[in-house]
Formats: sequence, structure tokens, C-alpha cells
Amino acid sequence: MTQTSSPTPFQISLRSDRTSADEISQLLESPGFGSLFTEHMVLVEWDREQGWHGARLMPYGPLPLEPSAAVFHYAQEIFEGMKAYRHDDGSVWTFRPERNAERFNSSARRMAMPELPPTIFLDAIRALVEVDQGWVPPAGTGETSLYLRPFMIATEEALGVRPSNRYLFTVIASPAGSYFSGGLTPVSLWVSDQYVRAAPGGTGFAKTGGNYAASLASQAEGIQHGCDQVVFLDAVEHRYVEELGGMNLFFLYADGRVVTPELSGTILPGVTRASLLDLARERGLVVEERRFSIDEWREGVASGEITEVFACGTAAVITPVGKLAWNGGELDMPQEHTLTMELRQELLDIQYGRAEDRHGWLYQL
Ligand code: PMP
Repeated sequence: MTQTSSPTPFQISLRSDRTSADEISQLLESPGFGSLFTEHMVLVEWDREQGWHGARLMPYGPLPLEPSAAVFHYAQEIFEGMKAYRHDDGSVWTFRPERNAERFNSSARRMAMPELPPTIFLDAIRALVEVDQGWVPPAGTGETSLYLRPFMIATEEALGVRPSNRYLFTVIASPAGSYFSGGLTPVSLWVSDQYVRAAPGGTGFAKTGGNYAASLASQAEGIQHGCDQVVFLDAVEHRYVEELGGMNLFFLYADGRVVTPELSGTILPGVTRASLLDLARERGLVVEERRFSIDEWREGVASGEITEVFACGTAAVITPVGKLAWNGGELDMPQEHTLTMELRQELLDIQYGRAEDRHGWLYQL
């Protein structure tokens, strides 16, 4: 057992049977997404008496949880999603991780869970990527990265609806191939009129498992209707566009306006969304964060005022939207994605270190 020099003292126990560099590079040839995991994980515990303690870096493997652990019953669970990128000089970086640390704490407050000091969040990621750095795909292999998944669960063994007295913070990592291995194909979206994702006063702005569980039936409905993803409308009037199950939406206008639904409390404040708003402003585009109705969307496309529509998030960066379908109709989106692709490239170039990081968005691991 050793300790790292980072401010968070991790007890370190590494796997004795480490995967060889050759085997890793074979696995990294087609890692897919979310099914291959690196060799280690970080665990940090919390209880009411000691606060955060017991930070350790250990071999990836099952968590010892009793069936009575609170997370299984009352779903106190939050998570984050971010990526580590390898640059041409071999160095490894992540993108605006302090935003993920802040959003993690905003999720924690909503779910009545303890906040995690951002230094522990960042140190945990750094410690894991340091030992498993061989799993960060090499530079120049397309849009590959090491996907990082920090999460927190309620572990107290007790039934009864109340905040747990014990929690576990964990980070795991998964090499990710190009999201669009067969080229960038526009997605089709289904407007769900049967289900909503989040209501005012609910948990829509938090990154908590329940929001994703609640989106699965509507996703199935969308697939039944031949669409790739679902676009959710607001829960009260069923009129205003919110977001997809895992991405925010943008609308580009012929007159240089960029519209995206405002952060009303029912959508996730995406890090990609915030970054693209900055990049759009810097290009002199007029950015509008506001309520945006489904009628405005349909009419804007029909009239030719809306020239491009895209979705964005960490996993796929930017995905052009090709079609909108609903009960009773469908509408093709404009098929040009010039500005969409320029913004996409600009953000990727920053993340992969091919463009100057003029905003200070990169964080070396
Ligand atoms: N909305 C939802 C519901 C999401 O799960 C995600 C992915 N985290 C996003 C938007 C995009 O957020 P980000 O750009 O931070 O990945």
C-alpha cells in the first residue's frame, strides 16, 4: 500500500496481473462504447461522523453491497460523464472538469446527498487516469477517448424513506471509440406526447439515474416509430422543447441567431451546451437562451428561417438532427450542416489540443 502525493490521500492497491500493453492496444482497436472497463477504480466513503474518508484506488471489480443498501430502494444515485483525451505529444487532458464537479454537487443537493469537495472529485479522476493511462486511446485515431464515469450511491443498509447515513463515491473509466464509426449520420427524433422527462420542481436538472430510467419507455416508443431518439416537451403545456434523453438541442437561423432552450430547472445544464454558446458568441452569432416551442421549430424549418438543427453532449460532441416525427406527421430538417460541422470541429480541435485553448478549458491529468 502506498499513498499518492495528491491532496487526497489514496490508499493504492494495484492489480497484480496487469494487462500487457500489447493486449491493451488490441482491445483499443475497437473499444465500442461503455462495455470495456479499465483495470482500476476509485472509491471514497462518506458517513455522518467522519465525512469523506477512506479514499482508495483498487482493482476494478464488484462492489460489496447488501441487498438492503438504500440505493436499491430509494434510488439516491447521481453520476457524471466526461472524457480524457490524448494529445499528439502523448499528454492526457480532460475538458472543463470543474463544471462536472459543480454539476455533481448540484445533483447531490437535489437528491439530499452530501456534496463532494471538487478537489476530491478531480484528484480521484487524476489518480485513476494516472494508473490506467495505457487505456487512453492513442492520439490520431479519430474521436477516441477514455470516458470517465464518477458516481455516488447511498449505501446504508436500512429500509425507510429518508436520506441515507452512508454513501460511496466511485470513479470508473471506459475506453470509447468514435461515436460515429460509420461517419456522422443525422439522427431522427420522435416527439413524445405520451411521456414527459421532468416537471417543474422535479429532478430534471440533476444527473440522477431515475431521470434516465424514466426516459427508457419513451425511447422505446420513439424506436417503434422508426426514430433514433426522443425529444421531450415541457410537462405543463406540452409545447416547449426541452432536450433529448442525453443531449441538449440547438437551432441555427439564417439571420445568424442561435437558439437553445433556457436552463429552466427541467433540463440538464450541459457542459457542451455552455461551451458551444461561448464559441457561437465569439463568432458574432446572436445567442438566445429562451423558451422555444415545438410550433416555432416546425414553422421555422418550413419557412426556411431555421437552417440547421443539432444535438450536443459529451458522448457525441455534436450530432446533426435530420428529421422530426410525431403522432400524425413528420418533417425533414434542412440537410446542410455547415455551421454545425464547423462548431463541432472547433470544439474537437480544442479538446484534442489541435487548437489553442484560449478559454483555459483544458485540464491536464
Ligand atoms: N442532457 C442530458 C439529459 C444528458 O444526460 C447529457 C449528458 N450528460 C446532456 C444533456 C449533455 O451534457 P454534457 O454536454 O455535459 O455532456
